[in-house]
Amino acid sequence: MSVMKKLEVGILGATGMVGQRLVSLLESHLWFEVAWLAASEKSAGKPYADACHWRLREPMPRAARALLVEECRPVGAPQLMFSSLDSKVAGEVERDFARAGHVVVSNSSNYRMEPDVPLLIPEVNPEHLALVRGQRQKRGWKGMIVTNPNCTTVGLAMSLAPLERAFGLEKVLMTSMQAVSGAGYPGVPTLDIFGNVIPYISNEEEKVERETQKLLGRLEDGAVRPGDFAVSAQCNRVLVEDGHTESISVALKTEASLRDLVEAWRSFRSIPQERALPSAPQHPIIVREECDRPQPKFDLHAERGMATVVGRLRPCPVLQYKYTALSHNTIRGAAGAALLNAELMKSEGYLD
Ligand code: NAP
Repeated sequence: MSVMKKLEVGILGATGMVGQRLVSLLESHLWFEVAWLAASEKSAGKPYADACHWRLREPMPRAARALLVEECRPVGAPQLMFSSLDSKVAGEVERDFARAGHVVVSNSSNYRMEPDVPLLIPEVNPEHLALVRGQRQKRGWKGMIVTNPNCTTVGLAMSLAPLERAFGLEKVLMTSMQAVSGAGYPGVPTLDIFGNVIPYISNEEEKVERETQKLLGRLEDGAVRPGDFAVSAQCNRVLVEDGHTESISVALKTEASLRDLVEAWRSFRSIPQERALPSAPQHPIIVREECDRPQPKFDLHAERGMATVVGRLRPCPVLQYKYTALSHNTIRGAAGAALLNAELMKSEGYLD
């Protein structure tokens, strides 16, 4: 029996919260293996074990420990690059790598809303990947940039996608309770967040609103026509380590019963499940029926952190229905999302 040789990959921003998740998830990946790591000047030149302040419960993978951290320059790096760079530098660095022929699969927000850059959730809008053809033509890049959404957008867009497909969406209200790990390391100072709720996360609400419309938009004549429903987001930081919880209300375009919504969520499957991509959850949406679920404490790791868990579905006196959604912000909302994007790209022949 032949064993498939794994594809070597690199990580830009490998020392950060999302970079560490990528290193950890890639340790036992079926198709990819980490061969190259990069971060800021302060980390470059050191072994990863010395440069990185490891914050995950799982131990640092042995293979990564001795890798020397490189500067973020496209010299000697593998073709496939994951990026979890601080957005202050991601714009230039990712562009330089794409220009030099690398496939950049990015977590950063810099290119998400560019019309020629796919903003992808493989279960929701895999067809948007085709935007890269126009991107390479227009920008004259040998490589490309593909992005995944903001960690708060993911749970919202995943839970809305089956509803949009089955019933159409008219209005969406979302209030988030977002984990501190969403702010990177060291994140929000203890004195600001302990015993507190912070009702402001810079630019987050705008990102969630625009990204959700792009993700659920239709690809027409080589461009995405954003979804025509209204989205209003209110984002709060709470003292939870991992896992963004969202209270969501929706108005639908057509009649649907509570049972219809549950059925739409439970039967939701897409290309990642059909192709059994390595990071794909078998059940992208899990519906909990208990009156007090989902909760980060119990539901965060459903499907290895790749599922969106929904519950508390009930009528909404203002819109039509309301429910709660939970997703893991550094797995489904970041590192796992990027991995699944790269797996979709490989399965479509973009990495051959
Ligand atoms: P983080 O913990 O602050 O890590 C930032 C990374 O960027 C580190 O590896 C850092 O390297 C590197 N970096 C900073 N300045 C640099 C420079 N001038 N040149 C080169 N590298 C530099 O942030 P994070 O939470 O992992 O987030 C990374 C990206 O993913 C951000 O764009 C964020 O918005 C996005 N994102 C985060 C989440 C989440 O839940 N945390 C979810 C979705 C998307 P050093 O260690 O050497 O400084």
